[in-house]
Amino acid sequence: MSYYSISRLQMYNSCPQKYKYRYIDKIIPPKGEVHLNALVGICVHKTLETIYREYMSTNKWLTFEEIETIFLEIWQSQNEENIVIVHISQDPEEFKKEGLQILKEYHEKEKEEGKKDQTIAVERPFFVTLGEYRLKAIIDRIDYRKKDIFIIHDYKTTSHFPERKNLEEDFQLPLYQMAVEETYPDCKEIHLTWHFLRFNKSITITKSERAIEDIKTSIEDNIRTIELDRDYLPQQTPLCDYCPYQDICSAHRHRFLLESMEEYSQEEGFQIVQKLENLAYQIKKHNYEAKKLEDEKKEWEQVAQDFALKNDFSALTGENHVLTIERKNEISFPDSKDMARSALESFLKENNLWERVSNLYGPKVKGLLADSSLDKKILDELMGFSYIKEKVTLRLKQKKI
Ligand code: SF4
Repeated sequence: MSYYSISRLQMYNSCPQKYKYRYIDKIIPPKGEVHLNALVGICVHKTLETIYREYMSTNKWLTFEEIETIFLEIWQSQNEENIVIVHISQDPEEFKKEGLQILKEYHEKEKEEGKKDQTIAVERPFFVTLGEYRLKAIIDRIDYRKKDIFIIHDYKTTSHFPERKNLEEDFQLPLYQMAVEETYPDCKEIHLTWHFLRFNKSITITKSERAIEDIKTSIEDNIRTIELDRDYLPQQTPLCDYCPYQDICSAHRHRFLLESMEEYSQEEGFQIVQKLENLAYQIKKHNYEAKKLEDEKKEWEQVAQDFALKNDFSALTGENHVLTIERKNEISFPDSKDMARSALESFLKENNLWERVSNLYGPKVKGLLADSSLDKKILDELMGFSYIKEKVTLRLKQKKI
């Protein structure tokens, strides 16, 4: 039986190459190395865990001063040397303040709403069996409400607030629901609640039995996709900045190589990119110039037409070429911008001719005029929609010697 966890699936779905380094090659990131953004999330989670453990054992809701002390102790307990600052502008003190602010707002909201439910588990690990796979889940918090209602809580410290429909598609909390259903078979109803702590907002949804079954199938499909993957392609996103495998990853390794060189302008990969960049620039420039020349050509064709009309010429002679100007009057029918178009369309439909003209394709409509089997009245009426349009064709031909 293969073992998976939500974080393992999420890692694959966010970047298959990162997954390969972590779970196939088993390269463990340096221990204790935590980015400041993630550090806020870890410390806030650990503080909330302590608050609710305390609440479970004493039924006492801590004051914010007590919460602040807990948070600062947790923050200090992280080895500061192992905090990785991704951008030089990042100040750990700012992140610490942010963590405290998140907890302050959360505490105030909970105090205002009053604790209605009984907390029965925090950071509780569960296992769920899905066919031939076993999945481990650690649930942030489970509350119990009267009438066998269970509420699964999950804390998020992400800096974006998702749309509800994205949460409807998420499989993390539904998987937790499967775990709770397995563990508490008497439960009547399960609510799934996400707390977006940076926004001090929560979203709760419930899932039908059918939806849970669909999610089980999609998780199994997800695992099968992972097991069949042989390429583990990198998925570059802004999150690469936080990835511990950046220096070995195929998407970033060349950049690191260049950064390690004193002089890289002759390096082969760098030169290839420069060559392609230059070609792309030239193509863009030529396209732009070609477009300008096309416009200029149209203007000169108009000048040629006007000159030929004024002087009654149908051909103009140059050094090596002759320009012929052919003027022809043609029967035309209203085009899509013409108000008469819909009347013509109705007329053709009423007379069962619509199918024959392929959505008013011009030559086919004209073809109807040559159909002697059609009633004369219809032909006359159709002719009434037509008008005469002058068509001018210019051809530049090599001069005959
Ligand atoms: S650096 Fe980015 S692309 Fe490379 S493994 Fe990490 S997440 Fe994937």
